[in-house]
Amino acid sequence: MTSHLDIPDAGMAAAGMAADDGRAHDDDASWQDDVRAGVRHVRDLDSLPLSPAEREAAQAAATRHKVRIPKAYLDLIDWSDPADPIRAQVIPSPEELAELEGELDDPIADHAFSPVPRLTRRHADRVLLFPTYQCAVYCRFCFRKESLTSIGRGFSREALEPAFAYIEAHPEIREVILTGGDPLSLPDKVLAEIRARIEAVPHVRLLRIHTRVPVALPSRITSGLVRSLQGRLMVTVVTHFNHAREITDAAEQACRALRQGGFVLLNQSVLLKGVNDMVEVLEELCRELMYRLGVKPYYLHHGDLARGMAHRRTTIAEGQALASALRARLSGICNPVYVLDLPDGGGKVPLGASYIEVQDGETWRIRGQDGELRTYTELVGDL
Ligand code: SF4
Repeated sequence: MTSHLDIPDAGMAAAGMAADDGRAHDDDASWQDDVRAGVRHVRDLDSLPLSPAEREAAQAAATRHKVRIPKAYLDLIDWSDPADPIRAQVIPSPEELAELEGELDDPIADHAFSPVPRLTRRHADRVLLFPTYQCAVYCRFCFRKESLTSIGRGFSREALEPAFAYIEAHPEIREVILTGGDPLSLPDKVLAEIRARIEAVPHVRLLRIHTRVPVALPSRITSGLVRSLQGRLMVTVVTHFNHAREITDAAEQACRALRQGGFVLLNQSVLLKGVNDMVEVLEELCRELMYRLGVKPYYLHHGDLARGMAHRRTTIAEGQALASALRARLSGICNPVYVLDLPDGGGKVPLGASYIEVQDGETWRIRGQDGELRTYTELVGDL
């Protein structure tokens, strides 16, 4: 038996999922078709309009990171453009085989900060929980690709028990972040079970879900999926749109369903050379996220040190220039924070250029958005 996403190596058999779980809702057929008609195996690359040389290179690169592309996302690719930004995110490229010294298997130290399996804790009040290491789409830039490839496990109740026990035993934990892998690649029944288990812990206040499903497989956002996440907890869904071309009618419908379900929607993007490293591209992305999808642009991540990704990384100076230009063009609600998730578990830090030039006592010299220096004098005291 295969999983809900028809994933051959999934742990869904162990999870006891019935093959017809996904048919309980009348809107499930379309996403299952999207999965089946997409790229699910390396051999499916043969069906794509690639030249023999491109196909050979893609197959070689696919040995380093899994390949999966739902049809809905595949259909966004302009095959006449070898540098198409959608293609760049999912079709393996030979540059991935070029690794630089200093690139890392685990760029943000998930494993070093993992007190029990499938849980990472870098901060006192929140933990990452990994219910699955499988995804609806495999992104070439993924910073967890080594975990997805080498661990390769799907969901299993037994595997999550130590993580649930850890959360129960630590009353300072207020937020649980489901990540992975992609948690929304799991069946509704499993999601409801995980949500119920977490909300039974009285000190947990917020459930966050980090997912690329609304981008790559928006038909998966069914009424059943929305219901599976509704309960006591405030739920925030953090999407992962990187380019305005990913914002389709189907993505809009998916985000509307999530908003109407009562969830807060945020987006984190990765700054990727050749995909979105132009201010016009980022500006359109951020505007469409907020204006069309109702999704607040949250973070713009500087490319981390994942292996084989040098060809997609910008310099920090380039990122700072883009962030400053965005800040000048966009309102606060449309502006993401440009951040770097530091190696060795240092956490996310803002990388944007400072607007403060100099401080002298209570007098500050601060550069305005127009580039001009202005003086601000602090006036603080008892009245
Ligand atoms: S969906 Fe997320 S975890 Fe999965 S491959 Fe893409 S970036 Fe990585």
